[in-house]
Amino acid sequence: MIIDEKIREAGIIGAGGAGFPTHVKVKCKAEVIIGNGAECEPLLHVDQLLMQHYAPKVVRGMELVMTATGASRGVICLKEHYHKAVDALNAAIAGKSNITLKLMKSYYPAGDEQTMVYDVMGEVVPTAGLPLDVGAVVNNVSTFMSIADAVDENKSVTDKYVTVGGDVQQPVTLKVPIGTPYRALAVAAGFEGNEDDYTLVIGGPLMGKLCHDWSETVTKATSGVLVLPNEHFLVKSKTREDKSDLRLAKAVCCQCNMCTLMCPRNMLGLQVEPHKAMRAAAMGNASLLGDPNGVYSCCDCGLCTFYACNFGLNPSGMMQKMKQGLSAAGYKPVKQVKSAPNSGMEYTRVPVSRLVGRLGLSNFDVPAPLVDKDLPIHIVRISLKQHIGAPSVPSVKAGDEVKKGDMIGEIKQGALGARAHASIDGVVTEVTSDYIEIKARR
Ligand code: SF4
Ligand code: SF4
Repeated sequence: MIIDEKIREAGIIGAGGAGFPTHVKVKCKAEVIIGNGAECEPLLHVDQLLMQHYAPKVVRGMELVMTATGASRGVICLKEHYHKAVDALNAAIAGKSNITLKLMKSYYPAGDEQTMVYDVMGEVVPTAGLPLDVGAVVNNVSTFMSIADAVDENKSVTDKYVTVGGDVQQPVTLKVPIGTPYRALAVAAGFEGNEDDYTLVIGGPLMGKLCHDWSETVTKATSGVLVLPNEHFLVKSKTREDKSDLRLAKAVCCQCNMCTLMCPRNMLGLQVEPHKAMRAAAMGNASLLGDPNGVYSCCDCGLCTFYACNFGLNPSGMMQKMKQGLSAAGYKPVKQVKSAPNSGMEYTRVPVSRLVGRLGLSNFDVPAPLVDKDLPIHIVRISLKQHIGAPSVPSVKAGDEVKKGDMIGEIKQGALGARAHASIDGVVTEVTSDYIEIKARR
């Protein structure tokens, strides 16, 4: 069976957070395969630990994608201070002249796909484009492991590695069944507080989403569950109402331009200008937005909001609003690179250590070692919407017995999507349009 079909059968999606179905991504001809192991968000440790502990499998997955796409070169990108991972990968690629490592400084957002492509290839992915426009396919290193499992061992995606951190006793990185409730992860990391006093951040502190429902569950794209006190700066900042953001934009934004000067996508020559989004919002005049096409190159990294702006304003939120407004008005972005990359890019890169301090996360910036233990998970809720595209279509009904790895959700016919699989042995107890619940046999 060809590689992309194996990947499709296994239900693999981008594990780094985007959730794009991988069988579609690798069905192409590429020159370079880039492995994203930079994991630029503070407090997350999954990719670093997987490269350290499973380097041969990471490299094997990359080789399979190179075979599928005909790529002649593979480059695994990771931070230079991940010493154990660097050593493990160097051993795994010994004798493989077509795979190299790209060691990066610890800056944010080193893991941004466009930034990484530029660092590796010296080429800029255009607005509204893909890395394939410059001959590259980028996969998270964890995705490579899933690909190796699928092709070599016929395994589907049933588990996910997740870092559990923040205000917990023992930050830890665990492998858990897809559909595990966040509450179980927090407890496993020694959380002892009152849930009502804390908020979860799903993903990294900057790009992650807040979650107040601790019964929500892990998906194939979940890489972090961070427990933060409700009064933490990040929680307060991310829960500020739109009307407050707008009022502050009108009253406080001095158009100093720092948000644009420090924007990593602007540095690439992509005409991303958050200060103009602030100006347009404050004045209620869309014509002040500047180049609308550039808005579509904003990757929502949050650097402008959480680092560049000294007044605590929310230009990244404003960029997202502008993008939504433009799309609702029927604007279609075009492929374009507006100007040459800024030669001073290196000097605007923000060290992760400084970002951690600015975000008030220094106390939580500690190791979260990989612990190989099974959590006592007796019930899972497996989302049918874990990926970009149409939700999976349930292929089981309540009362069905399933084994770990059985397919329970099929790709909607003719649509972009990914299969879902049972992550524990048990009985299907509920099937909705959102999820399938499985209870373990006692
Ligand atoms: S949002 Fe902040 S950084 Fe951007 S122009 Fe306004 S005051 Fe300056
Ligand atoms: S969130 Fe801000 S800094 Fe990040 S790409 Fe968008 S405009 Fe630039």
